[in-house]
Amino acid sequence: MDNEDFRAWSRRAAEWGADYRANLSERPVRARTAPGEIASAIASHAPEKPEAMDDIFADFEAHIVPGMTHWQHPRFFAYFPANAAPVSVVAEYLVSAMAAQCMLWQTSPAATELETKMLDWLRQALGLPQEFQGVIQDSASSATLAAVLTMRERALEWRGNKAGLAGQAAVRVYSSDQVHTSIDRAIWVSGIGDDNLVRVPVSGPLRSMDTQALDAAIRADREAGLLPAGIIASVGGTSTGGTDDVAAVCAVARAHGLYVHVDAAWAGSAMICPEFRHFWAGVGEADSIVFNPHKWLGAQFDCSAHFLRDPDSLVKTLAIQPEFLKTHGRDGIINYSEWSVPLGRRFRALKIWFLLRAHGLEGLRAMIRNHVAWSQELAERVRAMPGFEIVTEPMLSLFSFRHVPENADDLDAHNLALVTAINDDGRIYLTQTRVDGKLAIRFQAGQFETTREDVMSALDVIVGCAQRLMSNR
Ligand SMILES: *Cc1c(COP(=O)(O)O)cnc(C)c1O
Repeated sequence: MDNEDFRAWSRRAAEWGADYRANLSERPVRARTAPGEIASAIASHAPEKPEAMDDIFADFEAHIVPGMTHWQHPRFFAYFPANAAPVSVVAEYLVSAMAAQCMLWQTSPAATELETKMLDWLRQALGLPQEFQGVIQDSASSATLAAVLTMRERALEWRGNKAGLAGQAAVRVYSSDQVHTSIDRAIWVSGIGDDNLVRVPVSGPLRSMDTQALDAAIRADREAGLLPAGIIASVGGTSTGGTDDVAAVCAVARAHGLYVHVDAAWAGSAMICPEFRHFWAGVGEADSIVFNPHKWLGAQFDCSAHFLRDPDSLVKTLAIQPEFLKTHGRDGIINYSEWSVPLGRRFRALKIWFLLRAHGLEGLRAMIRNHVAWSQELAERVRAMPGFEIVTEPMLSLFSFRHVPENADDLDAHNLALVTAINDDGRIYLTQTRVDGKLAIRFQAGQFETTREDVMSALDVIVGCAQRLMSNR
């Protein structure tokens, strides 16, 4: 592809993207393909000879697009949002055209310095204390892994990386059972091992860790000669929004000298609105906090903001500094590759800069407030429908419900059939979870361009599908 072709195809791609977004609402939200259908349409070998761009592009439209689930669809109410605001797509195009590696200050000074600034903008927007410094990780999973490695090394007095874990006292980490699976994986990958992740029981409407039980578990472990290292608190858990009392967790941690990591991957975006900050009251006492601007805020994936009270302990855990990477630079230069597990880094700060400037914090707050209000309004409408019950009350814009018709004998099977019918219908997309062993259907509103009408339209689909299921029995 020469530069003139590059120009032409870039334009064509931009036109395609704008058309795609304009007509998204008419597509079914979830892909309607059977497993293997897309693969069977793709050649089994790479071509030996170059192919024409026209053919490649035509195949993209014919075979790939129909197999996509449309995460930017205004009626995507499944999982959590993965918002890519149009302005962040534009920024990503520019980043992709420059394609710089941003691991060291000198490998792209603008990327490093903008990252420092943007994380400080976000810190202020969330109301976090000034001592927090931030880094952009590729995902919350990576941020949590970095935090778990830091708590491990801190507890082992920095011996783990060198000597390994064999022969050391068992490192113990504490969390509720509402945390995301990325916590389990960080525990596995860090060599701490699943048996050393202590699941503290939860209680109350927000399914919060029982901090007395937490304190007792830490004491018992100490007495048994184990090595308590850190606590992972959840703010807005994936299943139903489970949220710990961060202030109480931090108080226990302080009493025992433990490290606290707060996973607010989804809910953290809402903290740009002061009225929602009670959900993480006390967060300023934590050591490490992650939230994903790539979820609710609108910065295209990947973009995970990781704030640290003391970046030195993270850098002490992860920095390698081989000779060839030394920058021999000025003092105060930040090499962000020393703050994360991967070495190579994309220029992720640009899309935050574009997003925050194009929408302003007021614009983003208005979006989040609408999502929360509309979702809660829908929850009330579902509650009022005969035969429906709310299983978990709204936490921000997330709630769960189920259909409980009088004559259904297996409610789990019935609700699984219902969510399948809803998703086959195509107008909306929902996912299910389990609450105290019972199957419940989740609803969250958070897509960047969703409207009140889009959110309310879910009621017709849900009730209509339930009625059809009942009449087909
Ligand atoms: C989405 C999510 C994660 C994982 O985020 P990635 O960026 O995909 O790794 C972790 N924790 C919570 C609470 C989440 O909602």
